[in-house]
Amino acid sequence: MTCSSDIVSDGKQLTHKDICFLLGQTEPEAVNALFKQAYQVKRDQIGTDVFLRGLIEIGNVCLRDCLYCGIRKSNPNFTRFSMTKQEIVNSALWIHQAGYGSLVLQGGELRDPDFADFIEDVLLEIKKLSGGSLGVTLSLGEQEKDVYARWFEAGAHRYLLRIESSNPKLFQQIHPPGYSLDDRITCLEYLRETGYQVGTGVMIGLPGQTVEDLASDILFFKEKDIDMIGMGPYIPHHDSPMFSTPATYEKKASFEMGLKMIAVTRIVLKDVNIAATTALQALKSDGRELGLKAGANIIMPNVTDTKYRPAYQLYDNKPGIDENSEACRNNLVLALKKVGESIVYNKWGDSKHFHKRCGLSKKS
Ligand code: SAH
Repeated sequence: MTCSSDIVSDGKQLTHKDICFLLGQTEPEAVNALFKQAYQVKRDQIGTDVFLRGLIEIGNVCLRDCLYCGIRKSNPNFTRFSMTKQEIVNSALWIHQAGYGSLVLQGGELRDPDFADFIEDVLLEIKKLSGGSLGVTLSLGEQEKDVYARWFEAGAHRYLLRIESSNPKLFQQIHPPGYSLDDRITCLEYLRETGYQVGTGVMIGLPGQTVEDLASDILFFKEKDIDMIGMGPYIPHHDSPMFSTPATYEKKASFEMGLKMIAVTRIVLKDVNIAATTALQALKSDGRELGLKAGANIIMPNVTDTKYRPAYQLYDNKPGIDENSEACRNNLVLALKKVGESIVYNKWGDSKHFHKRCGLSKKS
């Protein structure tokens, strides 16, 4: 009988079938062996440094109506907010002084000239305040190519745009009519052509999603030569249309599949950046630390002003709602110390995969 270590260590390219086999492991011994192997690949390929990206949730006004998302356009049951330039810049300054090295600006999707100008302005200001020493990732949805280019010129150099699922049928099921996986893939191509380090990811455990779908997601990341992965368990939101449809896994299995996806993605993609996302922490308080142990190397501590956090609930029971940035940092440092992982401060922590492909162009 083939065991998972044979598949991983014999050096052959993992096939779709191999990946399904690995993701399908449920015996604790086999699952732990998989995590160990993924950690080893991380250690060999990129080392065990953990890099931080301070996450600023800049606003929850969104033109999209994604069927899974708590801040979808037609949910009237919370207050909409948009941070001012000064508020975002103040958070960026906090991140800079905390030594996080990089930040992420994430928010609802807006696609108008004023929004494009606003983000450009904010990016220029952030660059100025940090003397260009803060790494900047954007996660602001689908945009025109020239907007991506303007934001890149203004100082952003990484972009995270999840495809949510590589299965077009499933993608359709979780979005209203007219939303297209092809459009998202076109955006990933625009981002690549513009020069960004390109990040994508999926939700894990969506209703109707199979292990075969998840294996295809990993092969999609490989085929598109993705630099950064941000993925996590799907968690229902009580005010979303998908709330009444049962998720594929119960909580424990969903969490475990989240970790297995990290582990197998690490084994297949090797030198990319992989985030241990907040959704893991939502299912288990030490979820992010366990994500690092399964092959992830990035954590995105929330730096959003506490007053805005309750209004940025993409899913139910999002952690850290009443925690301020300082408490988030202290808890994280202690938690990582406990599991023996060490944080690197004041470095961008770029994707090694990106630099191997493109040569060292910017500060890493
Ligand atoms: N507007 C940006 C940011 C969206 S929020 C964009 O379109 O890229 C970031 C991610 O949160 C989404 O891509 C989605 O994968 C995740 N998300 C949204 N609702 C979720 C839910 N119910 N459970 C888990 N993750 C969710």
